[in-house]
Amino acid sequence: MADPIALSARDLGYRISRKPILQDINLDIPAGSISALLGPNGAGKTTLLKLLAGLRSASAGVVRIDGIAVSSIPPAERARTLAFVPQHIPDGIPLSVFEFIALGRVPHLGAFGRLAAGDRDAVCDALETVELGDKAEVRLDTLSGGERQRAAIARALAQSAPILLLDEPTNHLDLRHQHKLQQLLVRLAESGKTVIEVLHDLALAANYADHVVLIDHGRLVADGSPEQVMREDCLRAVYECPLRLVRHAPRGWHMEMPQAA
Ligand code: ADP
Ligand code: MG
Repeated sequence: MADPIALSARDLGYRISRKPILQDINLDIPAGSISALLGPNGAGKTTLLKLLAGLRSASAGVVRIDGIAVSSIPPAERARTLAFVPQHIPDGIPLSVFEFIALGRVPHLGAFGRLAAGDRDAVCDALETVELGDKAEVRLDTLSGGERQRAAIARALAQSAPILLLDEPTNHLDLRHQHKLQQLLVRLAESGKTVIEVLHDLALAANYADHVVLIDHGRLVADGSPEQVMREDCLRAVYECPLRLVRHAPRGWHMEMPQAA
């Protein structure tokens, strides 16, 4: 039986001042698994992620969850369904780490907007998961780039949404935290969550993603399993340089760039 579909994009297009940024995207994101969006700088990955999250309105086509257009879901309900982790957290947010992560609970709060015990537990769990428990009372803007990125991931975890979208979440992370995050995403997917992440590190994608989506110049080049999509010919065409994925062990893919002859 085919995997259930969490999100589907049909004939999706996005333009800015008539310039096509994304065109003719037809894509099914399988539920309960990790999908990695790959492609060179400017390919349209962030734009596609925001369209899938309902944070931008498509110029053409539609994104659906369970047959319902994402754009028609009211914001609070959408925030209980989809959690988005942006690439950059702006400077100068005057909140403690705890308060920032607690923002993830806002779509769940009652009329008075107060955190209940269950909300506080969700924030504390998220803090521990990203190993920021000792920074709860520290101001967000005193954290390092990698710590701030982990705080943003914790905010999305506290949101308890079944679909998690992350834009280059490993960007500022050291090697240990990159793998820890990917292992966390694997556990979340195993527990039934749908994870969609933009990644630049092809080996990380090959090792952890179930489903890979390759984008170039605003168009879908290929999607499928890492083995199906991350072939040398496909990668060479998109990245315009010789790239080879070599497997040393299960979950032991490495990138090689053979010297041009
Ligand atoms: P990626 O995340 O793959 O690097 P983006 O989705 O951020 O790519 O951007 C895709 C293309 O859209 C790029 O060429 C970028 O310059 C362009 N673009 C994105 N946002 C804007 C904007 N607000 N105005 C004009 N062009 C934009
Ligand atoms: Mg981007």
